[in-house]
Amino acid sequence: MFKASTVFFPSVAAMRSREWKHKTGYTYGLHGTPTSYLLEERLATLEGGLQTLLVPSGLSAIALASLSLLAQGDEVLLPDNVYGPSKALAEGELKDWGISHQFYDPMDPRDLARRITDRTRLVWLEAAGSVTLEFPDLPELLRICRAAPQVRVALDNTWGAGLAFNAFDIAPGLGVDLTAHALTKYPSGGGDVLMGSVVTRDEALHLRLKNTHMRLGLGVGMNDVEAVLRSLPSIALRYAAHDRSARRLARWCLDRTEFSQVLHPAFPDAPGHAHWKAVCGGSSGADQTLEGRAAGLFSVMFDARHASAQVDAFCDALRLFKLGYSWGGPVSLVVPYDLNTMRERWPAHLKPGTLVRFSVGLEAVEDLQADLEQALRHVS
Ligand SMILES: *Cc1c(COP(=O)(O)O)cnc(C)c1O
Repeated sequence: MFKASTVFFPSVAAMRSREWKHKTGYTYGLHGTPTSYLLEERLATLEGGLQTLLVPSGLSAIALASLSLLAQGDEVLLPDNVYGPSKALAEGELKDWGISHQFYDPMDPRDLARRITDRTRLVWLEAAGSVTLEFPDLPELLRICRAAPQVRVALDNTWGAGLAFNAFDIAPGLGVDLTAHALTKYPSGGGDVLMGSVVTRDEALHLRLKNTHMRLGLGVGMNDVEAVLRSLPSIALRYAAHDRSARRLARWCLDRTEFSQVLHPAFPDAPGHAHWKAVCGGSSGADQTLEGRAAGLFSVMFDARHASAQVDAFCDALRLFKLGYSWGGPVSLVVPYDLNTMRERWPAHLKPGTLVRFSVGLEAVEDLQADLEQALRHVS
């Protein structure tokens, strides 16, 4: 493993001739070492791109893309169900720096089309949506963005992880310009590393992002890179295992009267199910609990007759599901959310109630199901 801040050069001539922008010129730890170059190459391959930049967290990947591609007077469009801290960045620093934003309805492509103007420079996509897991019509959203040549399209690829679909080839001739990925989740897989990546296919775009990356000093630690390199070879197996367990538990939840809705894109009545099928390989007819690919997340809507205190009691009563943020690690997690504080308006496809999101880990499904069952006894 190559760990360094300082890199020794054999001669002044070598020092002067090495160019930090190219991987052949290993110059200073902040710009990476052969160890991080290896992870960058593997992530580009995983996501179907050509170049990767590593950053200290998934959120800094989002920030890097926005700070690099937006300037005063520009506008960025975000889906209303975007990852929460990304919304906070738009409402905080971006706004302070004269960059405006609008939130579009990810399930209504016409709403996106109406909001694109000459000032729009960046459109963020997220599939499935954060917390509520709607799957948008990615090909249609991309077609709308492509009709405006000044618009760059970025996708938060954390849910799909490069495994559920190829963001750079979503439909023939149609792909995003860049992906931001919280490596904290599935690529790390351990719940013990924070890291993010920005993957691109276009060299000029990569260089623009790389310049910003350098100027902001967004280097990563090589011990963390090594941890992700060790986990990455098992990502496909782990992703499939999380997916399988999540669908079995979500299916079990369908029969529980406490829940008015179970939100998982592979389920036929989930918002955007047809779009998920088209992009993630689900097929109708066969067993919908096995077809296609999805992450190990699902949410339930506790029927509105349950007070939020009862929902809190349910979450507190869970033993295997731990209360905690993030996902993609071995331990199952649960978080209750107050959607009213998170969305511009209550999404039309959601019933009233209190939402709880589960991230399914790698424990035995039977044990997780028993845990849900015992905790539900605390609700009534
Ligand atoms: C977790 C997450 C992020 C941010 O990742 P961090 O490494 O925690 O900063 C971004 N987007 C999505 C969809 C996430 O789930």
